[in-house]
Amino acid sequence: MARDNIWRREMRLILLLIASGFVMGALFGRPVWGVCAALIFILARWSYQLRAVHRWMAEPSAEPPETGGVWGLILDNIYQLQRRNREAQQRLETALDYLQDSLAAMRDAALIVDAQENIAWANDSAEFLLGIKFPDDQGRPLVNLIRSPIFQSYFEVGDFSNPLRLLPISEGDRCLHFEIARFGAGDRLIFARDVTENYRLEQMRRDFVGNVSHELRTPLTVIKGYVDTLQAMDEFQNARLQRPLEQMSQQTSRMENLIRDLLWLSRIETVETLRKTELLDVSILIEEIVVQLGSAYPDREIRISLENDVQVRGDRSELHSALSNLIVNALKYSDSEVVVTCCRHEDRAVFSVSDTGIGIAQQHIARLTERFYRVDKSRSNERGGTGLGLAIVKHVAASHQADFQIESELGIGSCFRLSLPAAPVSDAS
Ligand code: ADP
Repeated sequence: MARDNIWRREMRLILLLIASGFVMGALFGRPVWGVCAALIFILARWSYQLRAVHRWMAEPSAEPPETGGVWGLILDNIYQLQRRNREAQQRLETALDYLQDSLAAMRDAALIVDAQENIAWANDSAEFLLGIKFPDDQGRPLVNLIRSPIFQSYFEVGDFSNPLRLLPISEGDRCLHFEIARFGAGDRLIFARDVTENYRLEQMRRDFVGNVSHELRTPLTVIKGYVDTLQAMDEFQNARLQRPLEQMSQQTSRMENLIRDLLWLSRIETVETLRKTELLDVSILIEEIVVQLGSAYPDREIRISLENDVQVRGDRSELHSALSNLIVNALKYSDSEVVVTCCRHEDRAVFSVSDTGIGIAQQHIARLTERFYRVDKSRSNERGGTGLGLAIVKHVAASHQADFQIESELGIGSCFRLSLPAAPVSDAS
């Protein structure tokens, strides 16, 4: 309302000046001259005000000049707009300082890398964990400062959906866990955490399980040998002794299987990060497994549908164990036909095993790959299970960058699917 008033007052003033000019001019017999003089005065006044506006705009931090009228109103509007912008900028700067202060106080290393892959900012921990000094290293390429080839290829490929774990190469090195997020116009925020302690604990647990399993193997072989000998001896050929001997033999076989799977799991975990680069034809591997299982399950039918030349890079014995574990499970937990397929789908080699057996209730599915998790312990024991088969599959999948999916419905059947990165056709040729 006040602004409208100013406009109206300005218009009234202009009309009044023109009218006064006209009257004054008429008194001297020259009304047009009078109007022209009034217009010149109006123009001069506007020019003066415009000059004040121009001067203020050249140095807008000062208070705006008191020009009054319409120009005063325009100046006032610009000034308000400017003040609001300044306040918003200040709020933003405070938030940024707050964020930088909190990142600077972190024990994890935090880095900001710009779109050209140069360091824009780093906190104090970055110097301690990565040897990157800020501001000394500002503007330097990140890959010149973190020289690990594994980190460099992770950073260059640019798929940060999974974090990177950089294992120590020599004694005294740290184990670092990297997480990278993109923001802004191609900038990246990098967090690096020291997980050496966790790594050592994991290593101790792995070594412990591996050593215990290894140590148990020899006495068990001796016991099994004696049990087999006793079972064959004439003095023990009566029903009262044969039954306990049979049970001893069954339990020692079960323990042997357990130790075999534990040792195998520990081996897979130990070489998890080593490169598994043998070029393998999945269809040929499956055919081999099916032939081997044919003699163990002579009365069962395994239907296979395999595409030729589906190649992957990996470790033959690990993939053999994962694929055969899945097929053996399908044979163990169903009585009907088992279907095994392998095909190439875009850049993945997809292997699946389906059965129409007992199926698995939904609440168990997420836990099946845990060690020793069994839906029905007695049924698993009865069928020679150790509870480690799917844990082995999960580890093999992880070390081959494969996805492992389980679909199952109780009483209907199950489908276990492994999707591995397929080797490019040029590799195969
Ligand atoms: P196990 O040696 O007991 O078979 P696994 O780790 O191979 O151990 O499997 C874990 C559990 O998952 C099994 O005990 C079983 O209950 C369930 N399971 C695995 N495969 C199948 C299947 N094809 N159909 C039904 N249940 C299955």
